Amino acid sequence: MASPVSEIQSVGVVGAGQMGNGIAHVFALNGYSVVMSDLEQSALDAAMETIRGNLGRQVRKDVISDAESEAALARIHCSTDLSAFGDCDLVVEAASEREDVKKKIFATLLPIVPERAILTSNTSSISITRLASSTDRPEKFMGLHFMNPVPVMRLVELIRGIATDEPTYDTMKKVVASLGKEAASAEDFPAFIVNRVLVPMINEAVYTLYEGVGTVESIDKAMTLGANHPMGPLALADFIGLDTCLAIMNVLHDGLADTKYRPCPLLTKYVEAGWLGRKTGRGFYDYRGDEPVPTR
Ligand code: NAD
Repeated sequence: MASPVSEIQSVGVVGAGQMGNGIAHVFALNGYSVVMSDLEQSALDAAMETIRGNLGRQVRKDVISDAESEAALARIHCSTDLSAFGDCDLVVEAASEREDVKKKIFATLLPIVPERAILTSNTSSISITRLASSTDRPEKFMGLHFMNPVPVMRLVELIRGIATDEPTYDTMKKVVASLGKEAASAEDFPAFIVNRVLVPMINEAVYTLYEGVGTVESIDKAMTLGANHPMGPLALADFIGLDTCLAIMNVLHDGLADTKYRPCPLLTKYVEAGWLGRKTGRGFYDYRGDEPVPTR
């Protein structure tokens, strides 16, 4: 494993959902001391369970040793209270994709974190410049956009807000390399690069389902075998979370004011039903049995 960037020793991760636990995992595995926070202790317990399971899988695959796994676990501390972030050099905000939630988190953090701390958000789509301007340090604020699943995916998008300074960008570029990942720079426009291309494709797949052009199975089969995608777009939507997909489409629709980004009403309906994909056990597939079963 690589060693941490010298100016960043301690990392605070806000939100212990599917992204937050993956982010805590990769930082801890690469030598950073991590404090992870969520609203409820139960979310933190579940996140630690997931991290333990994912590290265990890496040990079984000989990617890391038992000792590295144990050391990584020992470097992660959990707290439901953001006052535990008092010594953080870097904050990675990975809470739910809602601007009000994220702004409130940063407002709570500002009196707690040291002046030197760099603030980042893992947002999939919300304006970095806008989030940064709600803090006292827009020059030390950036988008740090990991891909799901974090321990596996190699890319991290680095997004500069309008005020982000070069030392902050350079430090974060080094941090990404220290995690064994590759950085791609994106300008601060709605949904950046990966989601600007990927999520409208998923939305189009939901329209294809909505209009009866294909079933869940035929759409996913068509795109897996016909376009050589490793996973069908509807299975991928379930993996990302349908609430996150809908939120990204809304940001594109509002931010670019173009009807081509209109979220499919069927996507909205699934979210309203609470069928958010794998994380709730049901989305375009039902995951509650041994095998995923299409829900349409
Ligand atoms: P998630 O729903 O799995 O997790 C979000 C977590 O944030 C939940 O555990 C929730 O309890 C917690 N949370 C909410 N408000 C909080 C607060 N005030 N303080 C602390 N914790 C709080 O969502 P996720 O998929 O992990 O997404 C998190 C972020 O990462 C979002 O901004 C999303 O856009 C982004 N992202 C998601 C993906 C993906 O594929 N799911 C990929 C890249 C980036």
